[in-house]
Amino acid sequence: MDAREAALQRAHDHAVRWLASLSERPVPACASVEDVVRALGPGLPDGPSSPADVVELLATACEPGLTAFPGGRFYGFVIGGSLPAALAADWLVSAWDQNCVMRRVTPAHTAVEDIAGAWLLDLLGLPTRSAVGFTTGATTANFTALAAARDTVLRRAGWNAARDGLTGGPRVRVLAGEGRHMAIDLALRYLGLGEPELVAADDQWRIDPDALRQALTTADAQPTIVVLQAGEIHSGAFDSFGDTVEAVHAAGAWVHVDGAFGLWAAASPAYAHLTEGCGQADSWATDAHKTLNVPYDCGLVVVRDPSTVRASMGQRGDYLIHDERGDSFEKVPELSRRGRAFTVWAALRSLGRSGVAALVERLCRHASAFAAGIADIDGARVLNDVIFTQVCATFGDDARTEQVLARLLDDGTAWISGSVWHDRRVMRISVSNWSTTDDDVRRTLDAIRRAAAAARP
Ligand SMILES: *Cc1c(COP(=O)(O)O)cnc(C)c1O
Repeated sequence: MDAREAALQRAHDHAVRWLASLSERPVPACASVEDVVRALGPGLPDGPSSPADVVELLATACEPGLTAFPGGRFYGFVIGGSLPAALAADWLVSAWDQNCVMRRVTPAHTAVEDIAGAWLLDLLGLPTRSAVGFTTGATTANFTALAAARDTVLRRAGWNAARDGLTGGPRVRVLAGEGRHMAIDLALRYLGLGEPELVAADDQWRIDPDALRQALTTADAQPTIVVLQAGEIHSGAFDSFGDTVEAVHAAGAWVHVDGAFGLWAAASPAYAHLTEGCGQADSWATDAHKTLNVPYDCGLVVVRDPSTVRASMGQRGDYLIHDERGDSFEKVPELSRRGRAFTVWAALRSLGRSGVAALVERLCRHASAFAAGIADIDGARVLNDVIFTQVCATFGDDARTEQVLARLLDDGTAWISGSVWHDRRVMRISVSNWSTTDDDVRRTLDAIRRAAAAARP
């Protein structure tokens, strides 16, 4: 066995062991940053080491400092796991080491990107001629779509931002609901558009369609972008799209939808009603590393009119090999990048149409089970209408909810994050992992009951 093969074999053995440990190991990390630094040894060695030894040291020193994100009892933030086919494909992506920039140079990736992109549009009910770009995550997907939106609404107002920049041009108005994700604010900051104008939201943090219409009537033909959301991170709620999108279009504005985890509702006949009318928008952002369960990092940006995203992201280089059909780098902010479409293709190919629907429905079923179980705990209250994968609950006042969260983390059975919603400290559960079982939910509910019983009222 040569040194490279030995290193890969060692990595494989550690990976298999790690994955096998997920069902029983504590979900939170057991070691601190300092512990891991000590175990690795902070000094840079004077000379080379064998690759297998390096992998061995990395794996053994880091393992205690790993959080069981890919396991079935991690419900913090919105974190997907990795489907077996997607994980294995991701290993190949690293071994193949293709720089997936140009159509003609990486025909295999181009083929897979074209197929996976078409499948995605089909599953999510989005217009078939849209451009699909593979980004690092939903933050960059939102950024990319909003760049196309900004440049397009400015062009319609007679201003060429690509050539002249923003200074001296008309001000772009961006309207977003109070419940938008902070990634939208960050994307707008990157784009030089400042903070969004916030539109009132209801108790589930859906944008108020009347307030939005009201805001649009004062738009005064100003270039305008409206950001809607499919899946709010506390309630899982979806903005209403049909009439709202129509009203925004009637006002001449661009509609963008942030559907980082929620857009996948469209792939399930049982949940597709949540995204009804969403396909009428102009652009969409979603993640593959959340609901679809591919390894980090992988987001997807979809733009109805491919020429708009090409105008914002495209570049020409004399040393590049351009293809008249368009190249994948014209749909994303990066030039050099890994073959993300391979993992998305593998996930979709392994699930099939019914498998994607079943995945979405299973996540939602577990979320409902959490809501029912928590509602039965003394002093606990589920605050949101549990219509998708998210559950928000309180356990009395903020101090007691805080205690329950802390005790739950100490217990180690599961990992659930807190947040503040409607000015209250909440426990926030996101069911996003393909491998979560009924037994995981039962064990987690037991742990929540233990934590609640131990917390002072
Ligand atoms: C996670 C999330 C984002 C940001 O996505 P990243 O993949 O972390 O960049 C944006 N919007 C919503 C609604 C999200 O849930």
